[in-house]
Amino acid sequence: MTDCLFCKMVNGEITPDVVYETESVLAFRDINPRAPTHILVIPKKHIPTLADMGEEDTLLMGEIMQAAKKVAEMEGLSESGYRTVFNCKQDAGQEVYHIHLHVLGGRAMQWPPG
Ligand code: 5GP
Ligand code: ZN
Repeated sequence: MTDCLFCKMVNGEITPDVVYETESVLAFRDINPRAPTHILVIPKKHIPTLADMGEEDTLLMGEIMQAAKKVAEMEGLSESGYRTVFNCKQDAGQEVYHIHLHVLGGRAMQWPPG
């Protein structure tokens, strides 16, 4: 997807602050952090929303979760804890239509989120 912001990060047109990368996933710092640690984990494959995920993406989404665990460890959040969030479409306030898992930590979170 040439007009997708996160695909531009995957193909090198835009250079985010990358913290972790594998063959299939990329993790980078959110430009507008909502917590002391705020990292986005994305698949390199363009999938617009969680609702667009296919059966064939099952392994890939598992890799997203593994990467989230890894970056949380790297950020020293494994003991204190952290939140992971997928926003899906309008009602969740999704802004970038390329699946991304938010990893938020470094402060106490409220539940439920507003
Ligand atoms: P969403 O609301 O779609 O779940 O989250 C999109 C996230 O992408 C937001 O937290 C926003 O701050 C982040 N974001 C938007 N544009 C950029 C950018 O150019 N670079 C980075 N690193 N993050 C971005
Ligand atoms: Zn994309």
